[in-house]
Amino acid sequence: MSSLISRPAESVAWPPGKRAAACFTFDVDAESAVLSLDAAHADRMSVMSHQAYGPLVGIPRLLTMLARHDVRSTFFVPGYTAVRYPDVVRAIADAGHEIAHHGYLHEILTGKTAEQEGAILDRGSEVLASLTGEAPVGFRAPMWELNWHSPALLAERGFLYDTSLMDADHPYELQGGTDGRLVEIPIQWALDDWEQYCYLPDISGTGLIESPRKAAEIWRLEFEGLRSVGGCFVLTNHPFLSGRPSRAAALEELVEHVASCSDVWVAPLREIATHIRSLGLQPRSITRPDPADF
Ligand code: ZN
Repeated sequence: MSSLISRPAESVAWPPGKRAAACFTFDVDAESAVLSLDAAHADRMSVMSHQAYGPLVGIPRLLTMLARHDVRSTFFVPGYTAVRYPDVVRAIADAGHEIAHHGYLHEILTGKTAEQEGAILDRGSEVLASLTGEAPVGFRAPMWELNWHSPALLAERGFLYDTSLMDADHPYELQGGTDGRLVEIPIQWALDDWEQYCYLPDISGTGLIESPRKAAEIWRLEFEGLRSVGGCFVLTNHPFLSGRPSRAAALEELVEHVASCSDVWVAPLREIATHIRSLGLQPRSITRPDPADF
């Protein structure tokens, strides 16, 4: 029986002198992530303030921290976050970081039609472009939930990369529709601060708030693992969570360590995707499991 799915290549070539890549990414979900679950959460002033901490306090702290280590990152911003906090988004861009797409109201795409999803992409891009002067080229699906039709929608709109899939240690070219292609930069749940820190009663979170030491240890171990196999370390932090002082301090230790590794290329995802595109890799086709085959 022939294989139903192609495997990613063993590794990719990184720029001269580098054997792995890394990017510290930030999802500026703010109120959007909660409002997309239920618009009635807008009535909950304390919940809204929990989310607002990200743009109001977390981002300024994190921008200062990143600047101390001369690290440029990628910030994924829902359109509504940009409407509510335009000055914050401009400050991120002015500091040299990439602004990328993260839905309009952080909509979970599961069950959305291609038309509905396309409208969300266009609305989000429009808001970000109005603030930064250019359309975003990177996309991260809220909750990392892509639909099988998503890659084609992104490729049609000129996106360079997506970062929502989990089936490789390093980026690859993904077939998007018949002619399109998209660089995919894989992520994973272990490299997300939501599982470590998020506690919003009745709304989200594991119910357990972990120590920043434990979170940083998981991330550092995974960084060393990916470094050893020539992979791409993509950490996802949310400013309303990792912008708190003790967590930002633990994250800074990791940033300092990663930035000190001369064999690791630390760059915004857009630059990593541009490098991968320059390699001229054969795109992978990934197909949906067909119930007829079960
Ligand atoms: Zn998000």
